[in-house]
Amino acid sequence: MADLLQQVASAVHAALPGSADQPVDVRIVAKMEHVQWGGATYTTHSARWIELPDEEPSDRLKATLVHELVHFQLGDDWATLPGVLEEGLCDSIAQAIVPSVAALERAEYAVMLATAVDGSFCFEGPRITGRGKDAVFGRELATYTVRAPIDVDELPSFEEALRYQSADLEPIRAQGIRGVLDALGYTIVSRVGVDELHALCLRARIQRMRIVPSRWIFQAARIEPEDRAAWRSAVRSMFGDAEKLALLRRETLEFQAPH
Ligand SMILES: [Zn+2]
Repeated sequence: MADLLQQVASAVHAALPGSADQPVDVRIVAKMEHVQWGGATYTTHSARWIELPDEEPSDRLKATLVHELVHFQLGDDWATLPGVLEEGLCDSIAQAIVPSVAALERAEYAVMLATAVDGSFCFEGPRITGRGKDAVFGRELATYTVRAPIDVDELPSFEEALRYQSADLEPIRAQGIRGVLDALGYTIVSRVGVDELHALCLRARIQRMRIVPSRWIFQAARIEPEDRAAWRSAVRSMFGDAEKLALLRRETLEFQAPH
């Protein structure tokens, strides 16, 4: 873990404007507080630390470390950043520093966002035989329909989601909701860019706002929260060939039989 930290710490500092310059406290734990957590950053009134599971080093673990380091290093400049966008910022920087995890994560976010907007995600790709590492892609095309398991009745509107602060996200337990919010945050941060997002946070702070207003964010992302066609095309634009293959290769992918 010390080696991984050595490899990524300065890259995180360079990628994140307004990052706090402070010693990093990373703890390896036998068991995470929740099984579905890849890593976590805790903040109390007197301390802040990162917890990561005791696992073999991998690119996935490295990306999780970067994600948590961004949470850890966010300085006062970012105090007005909505919680959903904080997650998106962590993921964007993690993908930039550990690009090998990017295609699958983007593909999963595309499926989640499309499921939230349209109920499912339909795409054309090479016909696949076998699963995971043994998968073989044929020359002919097949149409796939995938759907993320989401309790859609529990889904807030995108506008409402941007009013959440980080503490509001933690108690959300309904199936798939956190995944959609992460996908939303990632998509918006990718469109706005880290520097522009930083500028919006500073502007809100100077105006003594609690949180960056959602209309500033949708404007900067050039997308209207209710415009389904625009979200559909945002999903398409992050789902290229690399994402398609990464998704089809995923071991646990459930899709309806190609037709
Ligand atoms: Zn996070």
